Amino acid sequence: MAYAINDECISCGACEAECPVSAISAGDSKYVIDDATCIDCGACAGVCPVGAPNPQ
Ligand code: SF4
Ligand code: SF4
Repeated sequence: MAYAINDECISCGACEAECPVSAISAGDSKYVIDDATCIDCGACAGVCPVGAPNPQ
């Protein structure tokens, strides 16, 4: 299991610093999660202002 960031992302960057395994990085049009690295902790979802990260 991993989280993924949907198109609601406004690229604020808040989630990147919260990820304990550095799975989040800035993509072309939104931030993206490396699903092989994500440990499904949910920290990114907790800080996102628009609810973009969700479990897959
Ligand atoms: Fe990182 Fe946790 Fe979000 Fe996965 S769920 S991207 S491990 S903060
Ligand atoms: Fe995008 Fe939410 Fe992460 Fe901000 S916190 S970069 S809006 S996913």
